[in-house]
Amino acid sequence: MPASGDQDALVLGALECYQRAVTRVAEDFARRGALVQPLDVDLDILDALIVRYRTRGEARESWLGSLPVTSDLERAVAELADMLQEEEFDEGDISWPGCTAGDTHPPTAAVVDGVACWQCPRSRAVLSRIL
Ligand SMILES: [Zn+2]
Repeated sequence: MPASGDQDALVLGALECYQRAVTRVAEDFARRGALVQPLDVDLDILDALIVRYRTRGEARESWLGSLPVTSDLERAVAELADMLQEEEFDEGDISWPGCTAGDTHPPTAAVVDGVACWQCPRSRAVLSRIL
């Protein structure tokens, strides 16, 4: 089935892309004091893209899915950061990693001008790149 083969190639391409992205996201999260530590991106038994992560101070690993199929590294970084930010909220810091001074909402992971960034959802100001 050519269609199925094409889909496999897309998913494998996305997996490679996310495996590069996860290193960047892990470094960004660590630098900003996150408790959530992304480890790797993998395929589950249904070929869905999942991210494995650990929470600092806990031995147990968890995973989240499914990530959208993409071959765009910047989009992959933003998708991972967005998904894992929710887990950071669950740890109790609902404004992590902090928006513009005075804002109580969290920034959003977004691709702005082709680059993965933390962005203020209200003013649309780019706070920093995710790297
Ligand atoms: Zn803001």
